[in-house]
Amino acid sequence: MATNRKFLLVKRPVELFTDDCFELVEEPVPDPGDGEAVVKMEYLSLDPTQRGWARDEPSYLPPVQIGEVMRGAGIGRVVASNNDAFPVGGAVTGLLGWQEYALVGGTTGALANPLPDGIDLLDAVSLYGSTGITAYFGLTDIGQLQAGETLVVSGAAGGVGSIAGQIGKILDCHVVGIAGGKEKCRLVVEELGFDDCIDYKKGNVGAALREACPDGIDVYFDNVGGDILDAALEEMKDFGRIVACGMISGYTAAERPPGPRNIFRIVSKRLRMQGFIVIDYLPRFAEAAIQLGVWAAEGKIQNRVHVVDGFLETPRAVNMLFTGENTGKLVVKV
Ligand code: NAP
Repeated sequence: MATNRKFLLVKRPVELFTDDCFELVEEPVPDPGDGEAVVKMEYLSLDPTQRGWARDEPSYLPPVQIGEVMRGAGIGRVVASNNDAFPVGGAVTGLLGWQEYALVGGTTGALANPLPDGIDLLDAVSLYGSTGITAYFGLTDIGQLQAGETLVVSGAAGGVGSIAGQIGKILDCHVVGIAGGKEKCRLVVEELGFDDCIDYKKGNVGAALREACPDGIDVYFDNVGGDILDAALEEMKDFGRIVACGMISGYTAAERPPGPRNIFRIVSKRLRMQGFIVIDYLPRFAEAAIQLGVWAAEGKIQNRVHVVDGFLETPRAVNMLFTGENTGKLVVKV
C-alpha cells in the first residue's frame, strides 16, 4: 500500500518559517469513498500568501489551524476514483495542501477542479493558475491599463510580476520593472522585454523612478509595499492607479510595518489604489487563461518557473519567496 506524506502546521512562524513550524506525518494513502477520488500531487505552488495563512488572524480565508495540513495550491493526477468528474489519469488542481496524495470530491470539501486533457501541468500551476490570472486581472480590471501608458511593476522577476510586465508590453505600454539585484534586472529587460528595470537593492528607488519615468507613472502594480510603494506614490501621475496586489516586504515582519509616508499623494494626485484577491475572479478564470494561452502560443509571453525538486524541501523552499532566491513562479516538484 502506498504511503502519503504530509506536512502539518504545528507552530506559527514569528518571522520566516522555521523547520519546527511543520511536522512530517506518514499514513497509508486512503481508498476513495463514495464520490471521492485520490489525486497524486505532481507540483505544489508556493505562494507568499501562505505566510499570511499561517498567522492566527482573520483574513480572506481563515487561518490554517494548528495540527492541520498546511494549506497550499497544487496540481496532480487522479490515481483512483469513484467520481466521473475526476477520471483516473485526469489532471486536477486546487487547494490540495502540502501532501503527496489528496482526497477530492464526495464530502471532502476540498476545493478542486478537473482540468482539460493535454494541459501541461507546470503551465497550469503557474501561467494559467492564480499567478498568471492575478497579473491579468490586476492589470486589465483593477489597473485599467491603457495603451501608451507608463506601467511600473515591483517584484518584476517573480511569478506575478514577470507576467504583469509582459502583459504591459503586449498592451503597448512603457514598462519599468523593480527587482532585487543586477541579474534579475538583466533578465527582466533582456529576456522578458521590459523597457527598463530598477535594482532596488542599490537604494534610492525614488530617483531611479524619476529617471526611468520622467513624466510620471500611470499604473503602479505593487507586489511589495513598504519603501518601494512609498517611492512610487511620490512619482505617480495625477489620476494614476495603484494595483495593490501584494505587500511582501511586510509578510514576515513580527510587527505590522508602518504605513507609507507619502500616502497623502493619494489625495493631492487624485489616485485610485485598489486591492483585490484573485479568487474574486474565479468565475472569470477561463477568460484569462484563454487570453494568456493565445499570447503564449503567439510567443508574446514567456512563463518563467523556478522548480525545487522534492516534496521534503517544501518548508524550506517557501522561504525563498521572502529572501528573493526565486526567479519566476516558485513550485515544488513532488
Ligand atoms: P514572487 O514575486 O515570485 O516571489 C516573491 C518575490 O518578492 C521575491 O522573489 C523577491 O524578489 C520579492 N521580495 C521579497 N521580499 C521583498 C522585499 N522586502 N522588498 C522587495 N521585494 C521583495 O511571488 P508571487 O507569488 O509572484 O507573488 C508576488 C506578490 O503578489 C506577493 O505580494 C503576493 O502576495 C501577491 N499575490 C497576490 C495575489 C492576489 O490575489 N492579490 C495573488 C498572487 C500573488 P526580489 O529578489 O526582487 O526582491
